Amino acid sequence: MLLLNDLKKKLAEQQKIVITTHYKPDGDALGSSLALYHWLIKYGHEVTLIVPSDYPSFLSWMPGQEDAIIYTSHQEKSDKQIEEADIIFCLDFNHLSRIQPMEAVVRKSTALKVMIDHHIGPEDFDDVRLWDYKAAATAQLVYDFIVNHMDDRQGISAEIATSLYTGIMTDTGSFRFPSTTAEVHRIIADLITLGAQNWKIHEYVFNSSTESRLKFLGFCLLNRLEVIPEYNAAIFAIEAEDLKQFNITTGDTEGLVNYALSVSGIRLAALIIDRTERIKLSLRSVGDIPCNEICSRYFEGGGHKNAAGGHSKKSLSEVVATFKSILPEYKNLLTK
Ligand code: 5GP
Ligand code: MN
Repeated sequence: MLLLNDLKKKLAEQQKIVITTHYKPDGDALGSSLALYHWLIKYGHEVTLIVPSDYPSFLSWMPGQEDAIIYTSHQEKSDKQIEEADIIFCLDFNHLSRIQPMEAVVRKSTALKVMIDHHIGPEDFDDVRLWDYKAAATAQLVYDFIVNHMDDRQGISAEIATSLYTGIMTDTGSFRFPSTTAEVHRIIADLITLGAQNWKIHEYVFNSSTESRLKFLGFCLLNRLEVIPEYNAAIFAIEAEDLKQFNITTGDTEGLVNYALSVSGIRLAALIIDRTERIKLSLRSVGDIPCNEICSRYFEGGGHKNAAGGHSKKSLSEVVATFKSILPEYKNLLTK
């Protein structure tokens, strides 16, 4: 394992760099990646940002996102960039399986691999690591990387500040989650000082629904929400047909699970969606209910204690039944 200081020395010379992040990037994945992208470009590196899949349209305003290459649309070109890279930055994930179609080519690459991440249980594939599971967002760690490890606060442009702000804002549920420490607020204040227009970012991310997305939300609240009061749990089970009916695309279901958690007394919420090729789960909890443990034990996934995800090849009704069958095991935590 190399030290961040060794990486700093390496970055004093021009490098061929690839940045990548997890499949279906969210605001933190894309925000942290774009921030690092803008910062590395400033110093003359040859940088390519390659994302494994498309991302939600509510992020399509982000500065520099038009430069990101979607791996599956440009596989040959992307493979070449990865093979020729001196350094690969892996942001907001710590298992190579999270980059799905890119896993094999990144694993094979002899480039120096740098992990910047805040999920628990990192896989040992990297050469340099900035990892802290207590960080509110990978964007917080990228701020720490630039300001403290690379000693370059003055190198944070308005574009970088905007990208980092978006990452921290989305991963903290707009500064609501327990991960939102005083230090996070100090960083956010600094990012505003450095040019992030906070009110505009909230506007872009949250006031960009299509009419059909909003109607889908109403439909789900009315027809797809099941509250299980004896376990303080709530489930949205969304059928493939529902997605089709409302023309739902990547990112349109983001945030839906929080409505289940917002029911008074609910401590564990599940969003279970039939994505046709597989069932996708998103869990959210309050307190000590370990969403990541539930996802890794039962749904081939992981994440954080209060927010995790997973998937299954079973049918929607089987996954819902599995989820319900787990609840008695966590009864103490759910009802205390
Ligand atoms: P979401 O429910 O928004 O998809 O994800 C919540 C959190 O769980 C995120 O931090 C995300 O990185 C993590 N996560 C989501 N899906 C998976 C998965 O399939 N595997 C793992 N290891 N983590 C996941
Ligand atoms: Mn994150």
